[in-house]
Amino acid sequence: MAGLVPNARSRRVAESATLAISARAAAMAAKGLDVVSLGAGEPDFPTPGPIAEAGIRAIQQGKTRYTPAPGVPELRAAGAAWLSSTFGLSYTKDEVMVCAGAKAALHMALDAVVEPGDAVLILAPYWVSYPALVTLADGNPVVLPAVPEQGFVHDAATLAAAIRQHRARGLILNFPNNPSGAVPSRAQLQALVDTAAEHDLWILSDEIYSTLLYDGATHFSPAALPRGRERTLVVNGFTKSHTLTGWRTSFLAGPRAVIDAACRIQSQVLGNPCTISQEATLAACQQPLPDELARRMRAFDERRQYLVAEINRIPGMRLATPKGAFYALVDVRALAAQRGLDDVGICEQLLEKHLLAAVPGSAFAIPGFVRLSYAAAMEPLQKAVARLRAFAEAR
Ligand code: PMP
Ligand code: GLU
Repeated sequence: MAGLVPNARSRRVAESATLAISARAAAMAAKGLDVVSLGAGEPDFPTPGPIAEAGIRAIQQGKTRYTPAPGVPELRAAGAAWLSSTFGLSYTKDEVMVCAGAKAALHMALDAVVEPGDAVLILAPYWVSYPALVTLADGNPVVLPAVPEQGFVHDAATLAAAIRQHRARGLILNFPNNPSGAVPSRAQLQALVDTAAEHDLWILSDEIYSTLLYDGATHFSPAALPRGRERTLVVNGFTKSHTLTGWRTSFLAGPRAVIDAACRIQSQVLGNPCTISQEATLAACQQPLPDELARRMRAFDERRQYLVAEINRIPGMRLATPKGAFYALVDVRALAAQRGLDDVGICEQLLEKHLLAAVPGSAFAIPGFVRLSYAAAMEPLQKAVARLRAFAEAR
């Protein structure tokens, strides 16, 4: 044997770019460098007390054993109730499963619906993990180029043409979008759902930022719209809104047959999502802490407005106002052309010369852009703006 080598499928999957950049920034910080890390999107707020305490109580009460693979029945029911009261979705507890984070929910969902070789449409800019997750499910990820001139929301005609061209079977939607912050109107989303319905596609809808909205924007789930429910799998949870990032829980909701299939897969590959985290998530469902969420949203909004105002004053950079999530997708095409650099080169220089970690747009299939997370306090954001300006003004 010539040594143990990873297989071809694993070689087709790159490391998550967002996590890789954060790890690099963390390594530089550990060496004592004053790095501002706006790489990965993780709220700077702690997990709210009542939710963390539910986890602590779970340990004290000995709730530390296996649970059923799809999660404890109380949490499946509470998840269904939360999806209903918050987004107008109608699921029984058997149509909701608990997964180990949104990432794992996407993975289970794709494993349960993708047939080998199926073309799955992904709308750029997309969150980094979708192509890799489709590849791992033996599907064929097909990326539709981004439409910044349309506020990053694709129209039905473009989608229909791509479906026909690639004989697509599935579509991944992510609104509010990471990285663009786009939130479509109800009519725009309905047009995408109608197009998927006309061509009999399934939809995987990643709604992990659905409560992080600005300027009165409203979130609609495709599953809550006419013709949407029967073909949509919904991924949602409290990861981003309530900083359950490290707890690793989420919900996958959809038609019973697919949820049953995803539960069978989860029973084989995971067992069950962390028992302690399920208790914390139950507390989040029962008591979603609206005042705490409103306080966070005020802070995110202040940071968002600050970045929009300041970045648009930097020569060669443009930032369209995000409507949801907590990312600033900065258009650096003018600066890149001037410097003879691409977005990867710009991020490299930002990190190496200016100690600012940001993610190149290429990681989200939007070259010429750079993503900054504003799930960070004002002080690092102010430093980041100063560093962006220093980079832009450097000769
Ligand atoms: N979807 C999107 C759009 C995300 O930005 C993230 C970020 N982590 C995830 C899914 C994964 O979330 P989780 O931490 O719950 O796995
Ligand atoms: N979703 C976050 C991001 O886009 C966290 C990193 C990750 O899970 O890839 O930065």
